Amino acid sequence: MALSGIEIYKLLPQTNCKDCEFPTCLAFAMKLAAKQVELSACPHVSEESKARLAESAEPPVRLIEIKANGNSIQAGNEIALFRHEKTFYHKPGLFVRLRDDMESAALIGVVRAVDAYRVGYVGMDLTVDGFAVEACRGDKEAFAETVASVRQNTRRPLILMSRDAAMIAAGLRAIDGENPLLYAADETNWEAMTELAAEHKAPLAVVAPTLEGLADLTQKAKDKGVMDLVIDPAARDFSESLARATQIRRLAIKHNFRPLGFPLIAFPGECDDLVKEAMLAAQAIAKYAGFIVLDHFSAEAFYPLLALRENIYTDPQKPIQVQPGLYEFNNPTPESPVLVTTNFSITYFSVANEVESSGMPAWLVVADAEGMSVLTAWAAGKFDAERIAKDVKRFEVAGKVTRRRIVLPGQVAVLSGELEEELPDWEVKVGPREAVDLPAYMKQVLL
Ligand code: SF4
Repeated sequence: MALSGIEIYKLLPQTNCKDCEFPTCLAFAMKLAAKQVELSACPHVSEESKARLAESAEPPVRLIEIKANGNSIQAGNEIALFRHEKTFYHKPGLFVRLRDDMESAALIGVVRAVDAYRVGYVGMDLTVDGFAVEACRGDKEAFAETVASVRQNTRRPLILMSRDAAMIAAGLRAIDGENPLLYAADETNWEAMTELAAEHKAPLAVVAPTLEGLADLTQKAKDKGVMDLVIDPAARDFSESLARATQIRRLAIKHNFRPLGFPLIAFPGECDDLVKEAMLAAQAIAKYAGFIVLDHFSAEAFYPLLALRENIYTDPQKPIQVQPGLYEFNNPTPESPVLVTTNFSITYFSVANEVESSGMPAWLVVADAEGMSVLTAWAAGKFDAERIAKDVKRFEVAGKVTRRRIVLPGQVAVLSGELEEELPDWEVKVGPREAVDLPAYMKQVLL
């Protein structure tokens, strides 16, 4: 169980030396209890205390990693029930299921299409994380061949799926030396599956329809030395999936219940409805899957899921930002206009895409607004005339242009008078309120 702040304090040296940059050991203990600092920040803890404190400092949801060929997907290490309490750390891995009864050319076609899929999203390159290969034919050789064929066509991490340990062993032989996630141990096969996981140092998924059953299986696996576990609560519809995932996360985070302190795996594709599959996957991203195995791949389903995942797994206190600076579009000249926006990624990319697609040369000052959008930054006092003028000078914009025209976002038209005072040599213009209207504005007003 997690130790309280006072219990942690009793295990610290109590010298108040401040080497951890806290004024007292008690202050450090309270932060450690709230999991807001690392134990390693105190260099003076005895080995004996360290052992007890390390256990207390361990995240309530264990970090599990599936690795392959330099690619890795991690899940777990979460400490919050709700994103706004702190942040969620490890995005759930999205996997596509393949079956060994698929026709070979079709299977390879899916692997190549999924492997090649990438989509740009606010400056990031989003991709699918890996594949789950399921044994359906009951033929070890066929399964091994399928696993080998998948591996020849992708370097991404794998999940091997069968309740038959001998089948999983055949799959493991086809990718010798790798540590895929093994799915799954249940109440009938757990001993053989646990032995296999221990032998190959592979993470192991356990499946049971009740929380007691899951806790029992993880405890048995841990007793056999397999600590890297993943939980399948065996719920497949909206309400049961949500209820069990929430109960497990709550027990792990709020009650530090170690037997359920592992990432979850979800199978939203075990229905015949593509829309339902996408919606179940979205639910699993939000609450609280670590690995999600979809049965169907299509760009129109994966793009929103990947974008949703990025949004949920960003730190709400640290908006996604781009580097403030002066950006060039369509080979600007000294005659080209200077536009202004903030360094919130979504704002930047909305503006950048429109300016680029307009085909008109322009300079874009991306002001340091601490990663906030235009109106939010203005309301918070982070995007005013003084700051804009400061960044115009910092980025030496005046040296790039001979015709000094600067365009404010329409939403902060109110700043135009003040900006004229701050930049007296410039002609201050007010642009459209929405980025989508920039190309027309640029053609009509700035030519
Ligand atoms: S470094 Fe350790 S001993 Fe020193 S104040 Fe911090 S917690 Fe106490």
